[in-house]
Amino acid sequence: MVENLVIIGSGPAGYTAAIYAGRANLKPLVFEGFQAGGIPGGQLMTTTEVENFPGFPEGIQGPELMHRTRAQAERWGAEIITEDVVSVDLSKRPFAIKSETLEVQAHSIIIATGATAKRLNLPGEEEFWNKGISACAICDGTIPLFRNAELAIIGGGDTAAEEAVYLTKYGSRVHMLVRRDQMRASKAMQDRVLRHSKIKVHWNTAPLAVYGDEVIKGVKIQNTQSGEVSELPIRGLFYAVGHTPNTSLFKGQIALDEVGYIITAGKSVETNIEGVFAAGDVQDHEYRQAVTAAGTGCMAALLAERWLSAQGLLKEEHQAAPQTEQAPAKPPAEKTQPQTSVLAPANFSLDDTFFEGGYALRKLYHESSKLIMVKYTAPQCGPCHMLKPILHTVSSEFEGKFHAVDIDIEAEPEMAEATGVTGTPTVMFFKHKEMVERLVGVKSKKDYQAIILKHL
Ligand code: NAP
Repeated sequence: MVENLVIIGSGPAGYTAAIYAGRANLKPLVFEGFQAGGIPGGQLMTTTEVENFPGFPEGIQGPELMHRTRAQAERWGAEIITEDVVSVDLSKRPFAIKSETLEVQAHSIIIATGATAKRLNLPGEEEFWNKGISACAICDGTIPLFRNAELAIIGGGDTAAEEAVYLTKYGSRVHMLVRRDQMRASKAMQDRVLRHSKIKVHWNTAPLAVYGDEVIKGVKIQNTQSGEVSELPIRGLFYAVGHTPNTSLFKGQIALDEVGYIITAGKSVETNIEGVFAAGDVQDHEYRQAVTAAGTGCMAALLAERWLSAQGLLKEEHQAAPQTEQAPAKPPAEKTQPQTSVLAPANFSLDDTFFEGGYALRKLYHESSKLIMVKYTAPQCGPCHMLKPILHTVSSEFEGKFHAVDIDIEAEPEMAEATGVTGTPTVMFFKHKEMVERLVGVKSKKDYQAIILKHL
């Protein structure tokens, strides 16, 4: 069977393309990604308040905006696969697309793989990555290492400005290292940063190296005008220095510019290959906004439909009309919340599988001989929301055989401090009062399953 349309990627571009293609009865197949190029839902999953997306006068959290857009695509019949595409063949039609477990053919493709946060490769960066350096202030800002500490953020764009303001909730002071004498951020964000009493902007300042011992202790900086080198003592360093387009899958098969962005025709989203369209940040180095990404996703779906129809390839998949009175979409994490979580001492039982909070963890640690899997998350962390359903599926397979404990490190920072959590999400496994494994970030189901099987 050949699909009408495969959408590779998610975010506002991919999900919006899926909504439009779904409504055109194309029944699009969406590979929303897993780990390549960030997390499903794209960069909005690691941001906080989005204040400039039309229709939300009070603003909306980035992850919520993506959960809702994804739910809207599903409502209109898009089939969403949470896997990375590992190869594509655009040399002949129908096009071939291979993911980790699937091989499909498609008459048309929309590429919406977005862009990934850049690293700087500073001396010391590798050593202190996740030990005080992070590329996501929103994910990691809440960890105890950064509480009431001097923090620094590198960059002068909207991301740096937004994250600097966010970090003031946790750090005692935030140093913003801007390499020129002006910022790239929007005027509104610049004003917010410059007015904030806890943010100090260091103009004309470039980072040279990171130093520390167990964790980061500071960053060596240079004034780009005078050449003067100095040390800035800090306990946390955040990167917000722009992005690289996620186009390695397509190299040599489609026209890319010198930086790697997909080249689209004029004001259109057509690529140099007939039947292949590109939307969002993977083809836009100028605007890069959620709303423009959504706009180009819409354009790509309309053009794909037109093209399929002109080629006589379109197979309509009629669907029952979606209900008009629908409950607002909830993040998938909330749908899959375990029913039996134990919080209060009154109903505590060592026979239960799912628990929440430090009380339960301490008790299990001392009294249970079973394997304990502890998930440390923070409410604002997009990847944490993504991990929840993955771990719940895995945990359900082993129900009764081990314990799964959720710790919200914002509510209980001492629990993270006790085990040295330096980023969220972190999953630790304990047995016989010892930590036996530790995984930082979102891993595949197989990784968690393998650890549980090894230590049951
Ligand atoms: P960006 O606009 O490309 O800014 C990157 C910043 O990092 C610039 O200030 C750049 O300096 C600096 N930089 C780059 N390489 C560096 C290096 N090696 N050392 C030190 N500094 C370095 O990236 P972004 O802030 O992630 O924003 C990306 C897009 O998303 C933008 O279009 C932005 O408007 C959008 N965005 C919007 C919102 C919002 O509207 N709420 C929030 C976040 C992002 P130079 O200026 O000197 O190049």
